[in-house]
Amino acid sequence: MSKQLEEKSRDSIQMAVPFMDLKTEHQRHREDLRKAWDALLDNSAFVGGTHVEEFEKEFADFCEVKHAIGVANGTDALLLALKALGVGRDDEVITAANSFVATAEAIVHSGAKPVFVDINPDTYNIDVTRIERHITPRTKAIIPVHLYGQPADMQPVLDIARGYGLRVIEDAAQAHGARYHGRRIGSMGDVACFSFYPAKNLGACGDAGAVVTSNNEIATAVRKLRDHGGLRKYDHDVVGYNSRLDGLQAAILKIKLKYLEQRNESRRRHAHTYSELLSRIEGIVTPFEPDRTTSVYHLYVIRIEKGNRDGLKNHLNDHGVQTGIHYPMPIHLTRAFARFKPRSCPVAESYAARILSLPMYPEIETQQMQYIATLVSDYMSQKSEQETGSKWST
Ligand SMILES: *Cc1c(COP(=O)(O)O)cnc(C)c1O
Repeated sequence: MSKQLEEKSRDSIQMAVPFMDLKTEHQRHREDLRKAWDALLDNSAFVGGTHVEEFEKEFADFCEVKHAIGVANGTDALLLALKALGVGRDDEVITAANSFVATAEAIVHSGAKPVFVDINPDTYNIDVTRIERHITPRTKAIIPVHLYGQPADMQPVLDIARGYGLRVIEDAAQAHGARYHGRRIGSMGDVACFSFYPAKNLGACGDAGAVVTSNNEIATAVRKLRDHGGLRKYDHDVVGYNSRLDGLQAAILKIKLKYLEQRNESRRRHAHTYSELLSRIEGIVTPFEPDRTTSVYHLYVIRIEKGNRDGLKNHLNDHGVQTGIHYPMPIHLTRAFARFKPRSCPVAESYAARILSLPMYPEIETQQMQYIATLVSDYMSQKSEQETGSKWST
């Protein structure tokens, strides 16, 4: 570490900035959440029940679709959607190389093979110009992922799918409420899948998820699959699963859904502030948001084009700022998915070592973002001085 940086870290932690803040929101709604729990204890509708039905109705309206079906988590939502579309053994499903591993897990559990496509270097979402070359007679579906809250480029995906007779499943687990050309994420594919894991933009107090669609047959198929293959008890039409939504989680989600739009707005405002502060720093690339999209910034991800990502991460950590990496490896480079190696994914592979997710949540304060930007700026200018220095010494 250089002298200047050493001196800085002595008076180091001026402000602790966690990567996320789940406490404040739940403290604020504590009374309402407790009331929901008390009411549930009184009527004992622990699994399914009226809260689930009401939440499904409200979430369908929010997504501007006909049906929402509550399920146990986002990974199950993807698996049940694939099953409902009839995807199975010997089929291939195209998806993005940089996503959370769950997208690929669901494909493999359906019996199909994941086919990974590289990402667009600006949006980090599936590179739509590379989809067609991966289509074979076995391809059944495409799963675009709206990564980091940023909508994937859906129109080309829908056009390709129509041309080849493929189904489209949106992985919307990170993008509740985002829009693409004014349309809600989740309303464009045949079906879309949401996660309500606590850290997502809309989170339960535990695991939860939903499948949304405007197609009646898909909705009915998912309703059956989530509850042992039938719509009525002991009436099993197909071999199903136990993947129901808890009454408590539905009651909590109903309370929190009311604030989602407002919370997404805060995230967008913070992203704007971050980008103003960071885009002037040489070597840092801030998120690109095309005009056609309204991102909901589940994550705020910068790219370190010059300099050392891990060095910057450590520097921030030493000064009390927690960061994340989403994701440290494209899915095909993990041990579990090595056998699904794609032909080539140079962008996803090279970006994995350069991306860094900064703290992002509705409660983050401008002061905290300014502190982070100063730390980034200090580190980056230090870096370039060091680089110049080393040129002199060799
Ligand atoms: C979180 C997430 C999932 C899985 O959701 P779980 O509720 O954790 O099962 C799937 N896809 C993406 C892109 C996610 O971020």
